[in-house]
This record gives sequence, structure tokens and C-alpha cells, in this order.
Amino acid sequence: MLSFFKTPRIRGGVHADEHKTATAALPIASDFPLPKKLYIPLQQHVGKPAEPLIMVGEKVLKGQLLAYSQGLISAPVHAPSSGIILDVNDYPAPHPSALPIRTIVLETDGKDEWVETHIIDDPFKLNPEEISFRVGAAGIVGLGGATFPTAVKLNMGRENRVDTLIINGSECEPYLCCDDRLMQERAEQIIDGVRLMLHGMTNSPGANLHLPEGCRTGRYGMKTEHAVVAIEDNKPLAFLAMLVAAEPYPTVNVIQIPTRYPMGWDRQLIRYVTGKEVPVGCRSSEIGVTIHNVGTAQAVHKAIRYGQPLLNRVVTVAGGAVKRPMNVEVPFGTLISELFDFCEVDKEQTARIVMGGPMMGDSLPHVALPTVKATSGILALTQSELKNTDEQPCIRCAGCVSVCPAGLRPLDMANNIRINQLDAAVDLGLKDCISCGCCSYICPSNIPLVQYFKYASGEVMARQQAQHKSEQTKRLIDARNDRMERIARQQREDELARIAAKAERERLKAEQEALV
Ligand code: SF4
Ligand code: SF4
Repeated sequence: MLSFFKTPRIRGGVHADEHKTATAALPIASDFPLPKKLYIPLQQHVGKPAEPLIMVGEKVLKGQLLAYSQGLISAPVHAPSSGIILDVNDYPAPHPSALPIRTIVLETDGKDEWVETHIIDDPFKLNPEEISFRVGAAGIVGLGGATFPTAVKLNMGRENRVDTLIINGSECEPYLCCDDRLMQERAEQIIDGVRLMLHGMTNSPGANLHLPEGCRTGRYGMKTEHAVVAIEDNKPLAFLAMLVAAEPYPTVNVIQIPTRYPMGWDRQLIRYVTGKEVPVGCRSSEIGVTIHNVGTAQAVHKAIRYGQPLLNRVVTVAGGAVKRPMNVEVPFGTLISELFDFCEVDKEQTARIVMGGPMMGDSLPHVALPTVKATSGILALTQSELKNTDEQPCIRCAGCVSVCPAGLRPLDMANNIRINQLDAAVDLGLKDCISCGCCSYICPSNIPLVQYFKYASGEVMARQQAQHKSEQTKRLIDARNDRMERIARQQREDELARIAAKAERERLKAEQEALV
């Protein structure tokens, strides 16, 4: 029995149709042909985009650094294969807008020739700072979809008194099962990565000033005590494999959690596993908990043990229009069109292309877009798999309220957004909405509630940016006016001083003339 368990709780959520069985039963395909060209965006993570350090025409090796991270929150980008750099320019991003983003185009040479890497026999002899430095240099980001730089989280873990590391193996989105297969097939690598993360979070002196009430301060010399790998109970084989792999290590516990979407949301998972609530305005590390994804743990294993940067990932390709649904390992920068050809996607049948899961994923406008670090899945959904859009009036059943994991009142928020009362929607908690889509999923009237919230959140953010810009412009104008006033004042003072000096000179001259 785990002694750190408090009262487990789940707030809201839905039992969505899973659509996982066929894909989850197949081994990860590793025979995906190396694409002739890879389109590698410089922004595949939260934070500042990476800055390229290669030239067009340059030959690069697999794993070679192509672009370095800028600033504290950023991640470098490496060559997923060997070849020649063809271009560094703007290309469409894998985003609903497909707006262009700075991208490196690599023409592969088919040799897949590695840059020199260093194997470390006993990485537990490295100090914790060295672990997070190497994780950062390997370009590892959260592979559950958040893409937050992992090294930054490890550093935050050291700076706060983190006692529990949660490894998120819930994979609660329908269709997605890349983590399930990863746990079934590479459990030992994941557990090794988990232990390395624990080692990397051994505390250093922390300075947590200005934390909201309820947050904790750092303490020197503390270790993160244990890791909990939480796996939804619809993945019994993954659970078993992870249990066996973790058996020799008492600091790593593997537990089953109920299958319920969105169990993978960090606050829901923390609440369930630890019984703790993350206070508003706090990060989870500030209440002693940090979360990483199972894929991230495996990437840490490869980076620390073998010096291999993050170059590829397992992607679920599924949906009614996919003839050969599978989990397949692909290098970053692979075009979705090539992935769809490999999985024999019926273009005529495809009504919607989604990156990620159907609940929180992004609809993509076309397939000439690359897979990136955040690409856990690509779905080709048929019309029959899409939710009915025949919107009816609200029947005030309160179903949306009961399923909201954030404890919001979706109906009231939507009513305010409809009449453009965005401030009222913000007062009702719009900014706490995680766009999980539970409310839309459950609504018997087919009201696209989450679409309202996505639209309103975008509007609120745009307004804030506009306000911030106008405040910044006003500050610049005020500063310029102050400067001009100071200059004018100085000029006046100089002029007065000059006149006074001239008058004094003339007075002295007159006195001398009078004496003569
Ligand atoms: S679930 Fe739909 S019908 Fe029911 S209260 Fe909410 S918006 Fe209205
Ligand atoms: S989309 Fe937002 S409002 Fe709807 S259930 Fe999820 S968190 Fe609640």
C-alpha cells in the first residue's frame, strides 16, 4: 500500500469511446522509409524558437546540433538524419492556421550516419545539474503534448521541495495509444529514464520568493523521494510490463488509475494520485509534485545513457479513413502526407485531419505539414466519426457543469460569449478552461461549447496583447516626450546661462573701460 496516498478524487470527466483496441494491439512499426526531405521547424516547444547555426549547403550528420536554444525557456533542434541543408526559410507550421514558421529543410542522404555520441556507463555518478544540462542539450521537451522544456522542469524540481515525481502514462485521449505501446515494448528504458529524472531532481539551494499562499519554499540537500507511474486501467499489458521493469526499484511505484478523460490533465492526475490540489497561480512543483510523460522518460534514458538527442518519436496514425492504423516511429520533420501514404489513408473518406487526439487536438487544413515533437497522433477521421453539428437549444440539463474537470459553468460562459460579454465569461473562469471538450462531448443539444471558449480565449488574448501594445506605445511616447522636455529645458537653461555669461562679460568689460 502506498503510504503517500490521500483521498483520491476525480473531478468531472467523461468516458469517451476509446477507438484504441486495433492499433494498440500492433507492435510499433519501425520500417517507415526515411523521407527524402525533412522539414524541421525551429519552434517545436514552449518558449523562444531555436536559432540556426548551420548554412544552406552544409553537410550534417544525424544528431548534429542544427539550432541552439535561446534563453531560459527554449530547446535546441538536431538533425533527425544525415544529409545536406537545403533551405532555412518560412514553411507552413503544423497548426490549424498553417501559418509559416521558420524551418530548416534537410535533404537526407539515405546513410543515416550518426555524429559521434558518448556512452555513459554509470550516469548516477553525474551530479544532478549535469543531468538536466544534458537533457536540455538533447532538446528534450514534454512529449505528452505540452512540449515544455524538460530540463527547466528538472531545475524547478531541484529548486522546490519536490517529493513526488508523477510519470503520466494515462494517455486518456481516444485513438491515441503510442504511450501504451511504448510502455509495453520499452518499459525498462522508461523506468531507467524515471530513475535518472529522480536523480536529476536532487535539490540544490532554492529561492522561492513571492509565492502565493499554499506554495512551498526550497530546502537544500533534499531528494525527490519517489516516482509514481500512473497508467489508466484500460492498458493492462502496459501496466504489467512497467510493473515488472520497476520491480527492482523501490522508489518507483507503478499504479493503475481509472480510465476517464481527461485523467492525463496534470491537475486532475495530481489530485488523484496525491490528494493535493495545486493552488491557483502555483506550479505543481511548488506543492511538491512534478509530472513528466512516459515518452519523455524514455528520451531522457537515451540522452543520458547514449548521448542521443531527441530526433524522432512514436506517432499513432488512426481514424476511420486509415486502412493500416498503427503506431509508427518517425523522424521529426516527416510530412504528414508521407505518413498517410505509408498507412494507406483514403483521402476521399477523410473528413477531418487532426493532430493529437480528437478531444484536444488541432484540426489541420492539409497534409503538407511536418510531424514535430508534439505530434502524438495524426488522425484521419471520416464524417461518421465527427460529432453531430445539428445544434439545438439548450435544455438546461447541467450535463456540461457536471463533467467539467475545472469546476466551471460552461453554459453560463457560453451564454455570455454569445452576447460578446467576454469580461463576464472571464469572471466565470474562462481562463481556467483547459479546452478539454468534455462539455461539448456530453451536450445533448450538440452545442459546440468548447469552440465558444477557444474563440473567446483567443479574443481575450488578442485584446490583452493589443492593450499591452498600446500601453507599451504610450510608455514609449511618454518617455520620448519626457526626453524632449528634458532636452528643451536643458537648452533653455544653457541659453539663459549663455545670456547671463555674456551680460557678465559685458559688465566686466564696461568696468575695465571705466577704470581706464
Ligand atoms: S449540456 Fe448542453 S443542453 Fe445541457 S445545460 Fe449544458 S449547454 Fe445546455
Ligand atoms: S472545455 Fe472548458 S468548460 Fe468545457 S469541460 Fe473542459 S474545462 Fe470545462
